[in-house]
Amino acid sequence: FRHGEASEVVVNLPNETVVFGEHHPLIVVAGPCSVENEDMIVETARRVKAAGAKFLRGGAYKPRTSPYAFQGHGESALELLAKAREVSGLGIITEVMDAVDLDRIAEIADVIQVGARNMQNFSLLKKVGAQSKPVLLKRGMAATIEDWLMAAEYILAAGNPNVILCERGIRTFDRQYTRNTLDLSVVPVLRKLTHLPIMIDPSHGVGWSEFVPSMAMAAIAAGTDSLMIEVHPNPAKALSDGPQSLTPDRFDNLMQELAVIGKAV
Ligand code: PEP
Ligand code: MN
Repeated sequence: FRHGEASEVVVNLPNETVVFGEHHPLIVVAGPCSVENEDMIVETARRVKAAGAKFLRGGAYKPRTSPYAFQGHGESALELLAKAREVSGLGIITEVMDAVDLDRIAEIADVIQVGARNMQNFSLLKKVGAQSKPVLLKRGMAATIEDWLMAAEYILAAGNPNVILCERGIRTFDRQYTRNTLDLSVVPVLRKLTHLPIMIDPSHGVGWSEFVPSMAMAAIAAGTDSLMIEVHPNPAKALSDGPQSLTPDRFDNLMQELAVIGKAV
């Protein structure tokens, strides 16, 4: 069980300092699944910033099920994220898939994401643990809570105390109406077991944009510290995860709805 006080993950953004943690305001991370081009990432950054998000998410290196699907623009996408950070003042969260890219990602990202598929890539965990940027550790789609906490422990044991745990849905038996099963019970359970900050990603959790707002509200009711929401200026044309992405207008509405629930945005 948890020992001691809730830990705080402090991030210095261009114009403000934000803190992930139990006793701090809700932090919202928003943006497209993939960084597709300069216009879309800069426009998304402006819109989600205006709505109250603190971080822009966007993949440069994408873990796709099919090798023939869009794999991300890689290094050039990192440059676009750096530009979006500069124009918006948002922090950047992006995924590392391969340790060879880690230094370059760490140069532009404020928080480094380890995706569900790499949650038990122990050599990668040791490497993100040996650098100083905070790490967002997504739950593997078939990982128990114990597996997940032990994966976090690899990062902590390697010397990096700044880990955020992100629930993004697990595999159960029905994929017909939802992509995954969003396990919101992790919020109180993790609170009991660990001092680490918690994030909920309803977008990957349910897989369909129409279901995202309810689950975002439910996550706040459960007590999450932060949310990750996929937002795309034109979901129908998205190169990945369009069906689960909110439009910027829908995201605006959601942010207003969230403010009503409690934990101030
Ligand atoms: C993502 O955040 O776009 C992503 C690939 O997430 P996950 O690792 O949870 O599937
Ligand atoms: Mn995605």
